[in-house]
Amino acid sequence: MLVRFWGVRGSLPAPPQPSQIRSKISAILERLTPADIESPASRERFLSSLPPWLFGTVGGNTPCVTVDLDTDNSPQCLIFDAGSGIRELGNAVSRENPRPTQYRLFFSHVHWDHIQGFPFFGPAYDPSVTIDFYSPHNNIENSLQGQMTSPYFPVHMDSMGCKKNFHFMDDRVILDGVTVSSKKMNHPGDSYSFMVDDGKRRFIYATDTELSTEDFLKNEENTRFFKDADLIVIDCQYTLGEAIEKYNWGHSPFSLAVDFAANWGIKHMVLFHHDPAYNDRKLYNILQSARWYTERMNISGIKLTLATEGLEIRL
Ligand SMILES: [Zn+2]
Ligand SMILES: [Zn+2]
Repeated sequence: MLVRFWGVRGSLPAPPQPSQIRSKISAILERLTPADIESPASRERFLSSLPPWLFGTVGGNTPCVTVDLDTDNSPQCLIFDAGSGIRELGNAVSRENPRPTQYRLFFSHVHWDHIQGFPFFGPAYDPSVTIDFYSPHNNIENSLQGQMTSPYFPVHMDSMGCKKNFHFMDDRVILDGVTVSSKKMNHPGDSYSFMVDDGKRRFIYATDTELSTEDFLKNEENTRFFKDADLIVIDCQYTLGEAIEKYNWGHSPFSLAVDFAANWGIKHMVLFHHDPAYNDRKLYNILQSARWYTERMNISGIKLTLATEGLEIRL
């Protein structure tokens, strides 16, 4: 399966500010020497030697992650959450030929940063497209309609021409031999994690959760869901200090997420749902701190990656 990231920011879209762009350009020019621009090859070498927080950005869109499944039948794309990143997904599929006509959209919960992109998802306006919606929350249709109602939005959801099927999701759903399971997490109003199991690999999408001792318990439910997963995308919104200040806000510090992944023998952890107030430099510092933490705590066998827009991970 192929996991792709279209929106990685939590709470609110956070596009880079002009002053941040200016200071990136200024820092790059400071590092530049005449030899670096002698030829196209030397220029490319120079650019690829720059740290990622200078030559690029984590991205400002709110959560949207897709999983492309390598099934025997037609290709399948599962979408997790419709934050503002789903607009980029819609733009990308509009360039495909032929365009996909079926989408399966899973909602962790209906906080605004997880639904706000849906009115801008181009394929939803195409009558040849079918979207199946899944969530353990039973109010998805109402919530999506509610944000597309006057005076908040000029277009009603009924004007989106696609065929829409809403499914209440219990513990699990099996789609063409692939199992997607859900698990309630600790978050105001409840958020649900999803685990995708294609029989070969297991992927977990665990956004918007304030990890607690319950999540570390080696009971049957936790073990079945988390143990030995190949990849987890997990809420790492805060530094430890900020998580203490924002206790009960429903999000986790990166160090606790590392402890959690180590507790369950998870092989690869992606830090996700970045705080909108954190700039690129701070987010890469957090990744560095998380790696430092695994070394100091003698935690081995976990790969750590920072979620960025455009990131793709093949399992
Ligand atoms: Zn969120
Ligand atoms: Zn939330």
